Amino acid sequence: MSSDLSDLYQHVILDHNRRPRNRGRIPTANRSAHGDNPSCGDQCDVYLRLDGDRIADISFEGSGCAISMASASLMTTLLKGKKADEAAGLYDRFHEIVTTGKEPEEISDLGAFAGVHAFPARIKCATLSWHAALNALRGDPAPTTTESHTD
Ligand code: ZN
Repeated sequence: MSSDLSDLYQHVILDHNRRPRNRGRIPTANRSAHGDNPSCGDQCDVYLRLDGDRIADISFEGSGCAISMASASLMTTLLKGKKADEAAGLYDRFHEIVTTGKEPEEISDLGAFAGVHAFPARIKCATLSWHAALNALRGDPAPTTTESHTD
């Protein structure tokens, strides 16, 4: 990709770190899940309010590396207002991007994470909050740990 695009994508990650979106617990949340990535020390709680099968509101709290926090922030902006199956589809796209480095054809903030594929240990950082969000959607009360996932 062009260096301009590279700069743009770098900016996306820096910006989400500097100004995390949807951070903090939603008082009206009716689902939540915890994610833990011990290999890096990232922790992430995802809260969401499910209205039927639509994510009416979503937020996260947590601490960890820049990749994990930027990914959590971006994830909340993408999943808000989506239906559960649309959320799963977005995760599939995100997972493909971070594991293969294949960028989306359209300019998408998801593309900011394509560089992660070159650092396999960081893939767990990028996917942590997404796993927590999908577990919250499924109503899975068990805490998420990346140690139980192959990715
Ligand atoms: Zn991390």
